[in-house]
Amino acid sequence: MFVVVHYEEIGTKGKNRSMFEKKLVDNIRSSLSKNSYESIKRSYGRILIELKLDNKVDIKEILKKISGIANFSFAVKAELDIEDIKKELLKIAEKNKEKTFRISSRRGHKEFPYDSQKLNEELGAYLVEKCDMKVSLSKPEIAFFVEITEKGAFIYTDKIKGIGGLPVGATGKVVSLISGGLDSPVAAWKMFRRGCSVVFVHFNNETLNKSGVEDKIVKLVEKLSHYQFKTRLYLIPFGRLQNEIIKVIPSKYRMIVYRRVMFKIAEKILENEKALEFVTGDSVAQVASQTLENIKVIYASAKSPVLSPLIGENKKDIIKIAEEIGTFELSTLPYEDCCSFLIDKHPETKAKLENIEKLEENLKINNLIEESIEKANIKVFMNKRF
Ligand code: ATP
Ligand code: MG
Repeated sequence: MFVVVHYEEIGTKGKNRSMFEKKLVDNIRSSLSKNSYESIKRSYGRILIELKLDNKVDIKEILKKISGIANFSFAVKAELDIEDIKKELLKIAEKNKEKTFRISSRRGHKEFPYDSQKLNEELGAYLVEKCDMKVSLSKPEIAFFVEITEKGAFIYTDKIKGIGGLPVGATGKVVSLISGGLDSPVAAWKMFRRGCSVVFVHFNNETLNKSGVEDKIVKLVEKLSHYQFKTRLYLIPFGRLQNEIIKVIPSKYRMIVYRRVMFKIAEKILENEKALEFVTGDSVAQVASQTLENIKVIYASAKSPVLSPLIGENKKDIIKIAEEIGTFELSTLPYEDCCSFLIDKHPETKAKLENIEKLEENLKINNLIEESIEKANIKVFMNKRF
């Protein structure tokens, strides 16, 4: 049994195309254990995985999480010979009860004497003759796909959708500020899909003694770690910093300052990790901290660019992705984010940078920032090979 893997966007990458393809092959290889496949090879703009006969691994679930794969199919291989292709096709057709069909052939290997049109006609006529089936181009009950490569002909019926995008690790590293709500896990996932590897940072007020929050974050990051080979999560104690901020900053502005200080700390992690940019789950005007005015003031404390892939998304669409990637249930468990600790009922929604900077002049937190990084609890999640 074979798996034919298709990608789409990689194909448009000009000179870098082969780098992207190799990365995708590497990522597939590192997700599967040697016990499940004989070989994994690139061939004419697709990847062919030859599975071991006794493979018991649920390859489908694994490939569905590998970014860069547009779709994949479990296929039977025939020799590059029209009679052998007919024979294998007939075997598949006879197993199915459908009465109307369509054949879609693709000839990647141009030396094969039949082009796709001729193949469709020849194989279609053969099935009509041998089984009780009719051609229906517009609404077939079953579609047969035949792909001609130099390594053989591959025949299949179902295309399983992948997540598309680009292979993780192909475009660089980002630091995701993850909070335990619905948004930030989805934002991180979107960056996986753009080929980024993601390091996670979470701030928690340890003095509030809510270990439930950390539990929740660990579970969320564990879920997201399935999209890359190795994942690091920095759990940063934020309690002493918050106490200091509370002493100096009026409650109306605290949330803004909390988030500005988070960036100052995360910046050091970004440097250590050699990551390029931050990722947050911000979405315009979803909560008080996310007015355009406040976002401007909060992001001004970050030296590196802040990417917010959900900035223009509606909540409904974010929830839909969270459900699809399996973070919804974890995100909706009750918890209290430290950002909402001792803040005003009516927090500022139109912050001004000069005012915030003026208030921050009285903060003595440089040592506490260093200390919070030293005390970080770093968790590593390895994606085990299946
Ligand atoms: P989310 O659903 O991600 O919690 P939200 O809509 O609830 O977002 P906020 O809680 O204001 O909005 O957080 C906005 C963003 O700030 C989050 O998406 C996240 O990137 C970052 N953030 C907030 N709290 C934390 C935290 N405790 N640790 C790390 N990042 C945080
Ligand atoms: Mg939140």
